[in-house]
Amino acid sequence: MSEMQNVYGELVFNKQIMNQKLSKDVYKKLLATIDKGEALDQSIAGEVAHAMKEWAIENGATHFTHWFQPQRGGTAQKHDAFLTYGEGEEIVERFSEGQLIQSEPDASSFPSGGIRSTFEARGYTAWDPTSPVFLLEARGTKTLVIPSVFLSWTGEVLDLKTPLLRSEHALNSAAIKLQKLLGNRTSKRIVVHAGPEQEYFLFAKELVETRPDLKICGRTLFGAEPAKGQQMDDHYFGSIKGKILNFMEDLDRELYRRGIPSKTRHNEVAPNQFEVAPIFQIANLAVDNNLQMMELIKNVADKYGLVAILHEKPMAGVNGSGKHYNWSLGDNSGVQYLRPSKSPLKNISFLMTIGAVLLGVKKFGGVLRASIADAGNDHRLGANEAPPAIMSIYLGEYLDELFNSIEGIGKITDKKVNEISLGVQNLPKIAKDYSDRNRTSPIAFTGNKFELRAVGSTHNCAEPGAVMNLLCAYGYDEIRTRIEVKQGEDVKNKALEVLKEVLKETKGVRFEGNGYAEEWHQEAEKRGLPNAKNTPQALELMFDKEVMKAFVDYNILSEREIKSKVEIKLEAYNNVKDIEYKMAIKIANTLIIPAILNQISETGGAATIVEGLGIADSAIKADVAELSKLYAGIKNGVKALEEFIVKAESEGDLHKQAHLYAEEGADTLAELRANVDAAEEIVADYFWPLASYQELLTEL
Ligand code: ADP
Ligand code: MG
Repeated sequence: MSEMQNVYGELVFNKQIMNQKLSKDVYKKLLATIDKGEALDQSIAGEVAHAMKEWAIENGATHFTHWFQPQRGGTAQKHDAFLTYGEGEEIVERFSEGQLIQSEPDASSFPSGGIRSTFEARGYTAWDPTSPVFLLEARGTKTLVIPSVFLSWTGEVLDLKTPLLRSEHALNSAAIKLQKLLGNRTSKRIVVHAGPEQEYFLFAKELVETRPDLKICGRTLFGAEPAKGQQMDDHYFGSIKGKILNFMEDLDRELYRRGIPSKTRHNEVAPNQFEVAPIFQIANLAVDNNLQMMELIKNVADKYGLVAILHEKPMAGVNGSGKHYNWSLGDNSGVQYLRPSKSPLKNISFLMTIGAVLLGVKKFGGVLRASIADAGNDHRLGANEAPPAIMSIYLGEYLDELFNSIEGIGKITDKKVNEISLGVQNLPKIAKDYSDRNRTSPIAFTGNKFELRAVGSTHNCAEPGAVMNLLCAYGYDEIRTRIEVKQGEDVKNKALEVLKEVLKETKGVRFEGNGYAEEWHQEAEKRGLPNAKNTPQALELMFDKEVMKAFVDYNILSEREIKSKVEIKLEAYNNVKDIEYKMAIKIANTLIIPAILNQISETGGAATIVEGLGIADSAIKADVAELSKLYAGIKNGVKALEEFIVKAESEGDLHKQAHLYAEEGADTLAELRANVDAAEEIVADYFWPLASYQELLTEL
């Protein structure tokens, strides 16, 4: 066995281990839940828990934890030892079915957006059997980790995983109904696949140590433009340097041990920026694995004296990091609905799925935008390096033309159906170079999947993932209803008649051109596409009546859950901004100002010496004057920011407060920054306390 195969999945309670450790009957029942989405037969939980504990202890674990995804981002855990008292006073190790199925962390500090305080309900976590338990390893200790959902006792959502699972149910039901109508007898259950590509930066730890902004906020608040930034484009796909390659190999190995099928690794566009992507998996699992991957990137980097920064925009003027969420769906029979095929029926499914996504994005593009809105992504979207904040779909030249021709057909006949199907069938052959794929589009069809490119690098993909499922479910239902009302013979012909309508109606969300161009912003406005420039604007889109209704009708979020979600996001946004502005003040006062004073002393001293020698040198004096001008500018900037914070903090309405932070606050910080960055250009390196952009961007 190869080294990779040797370690692959060794930290996962995978099917192989289950098969070994569980009785045949229990294994079969558990598989029915994992693979077929059947409700868990609770009578097996005791045996499953016991087997998990045995396996965990054999592998050196002492504790277990439910592992969940609070709305604040990241993951959460609270460890409990297996240790307990036995019948006598002896110490034994136990893990009961109750402990596996449900746990009650003292969760009062997790954001609930008012849900818990109103109802005084505590939160509980519940095992999600569709994502395998695994061992968390840290410096030789191991903990059994149980992927879980997190709900309030009144059953309301407190996490990000639950809405994703609910959206899969919604999509399942809509898709199967449409498949039945189209005459598909084999499709019983829908499978959603996802492959998130993860971007990140690596910086030398000793440099990051000098930058409280990067350390605490994940991004630099100051920094003069480097002489060499990313102008040369010499990093993208460049040869990977030794130390980085070692890091990447180590990372891959750790991913393999956790059963995460890491597939590609490469240098990204910006210097010090990299990407890792796994082979796609069931969406729920892919999302969980991406969360693990983000943590692992940071942990492994640490071993190499590096700091991994996952922030969406660590440095101004340098590309930020995103996450491409590749999304597709198919069914239990193995058919992929976004994969063109030889079979005309399957190609109808293909066309209906694209049609459904078009309808969905037209209706719910704003929600998709809201699902990827946060303080970090605000810096990135629309910054001509990432897709704009306008949600449009890129289909690629061939499919675009095919759709235009379908739209132009007078009457759909059997002959036309065959021609269209042939067109779909040829798609992969003709569109050989799909890989050009217009990087400026936020939602691109790339051959057999949609690639959502606007997700931020720190995000939990569960959120945009749930919205993709929701909008596709909505589109399927819309299409099915329209097919049903059409009078006439063949269902395929009816379906294509409906597609023709759909294509006409959804033209506005299709865009093949350059999403970075200013003209597109104007054009999008004419088309009535939402273009939320920042998080508070984006979150307002959640309150649209039809959006609320869809979330409720599809049983993904209730109205209260939506309101609480928005509240949590606004709170997080305001906190991030508040911390950034306060950090900027601290850095300016305690690091920048003293550096400028040092420089003024030095240059001023030199001026006195020169003057004492009877030399009239106005250049030195001018330098001192320039320094004191910047000094004054920074002092004023700090004062303005302090006054702004007082004003923002006294705003009682969260939404209004977020607008203040997003707009006035950002402008105030930008003014301070301009002076600090100008000072960096003329203060001696040995006085300047923060690692410069140039130093940060030096090859590792
Ligand atoms: P790139 O976009 O970097 O050229 P690929 O298109 O091969 O690379 O894949 C990017 C990501 O998309 C990978 O994580 C891959 O597993 C995932 N992916 C590929 N096919 C699908 C699919 N049908 N459904 C979901 N994800 C997919
Ligand atoms: Mg990529």
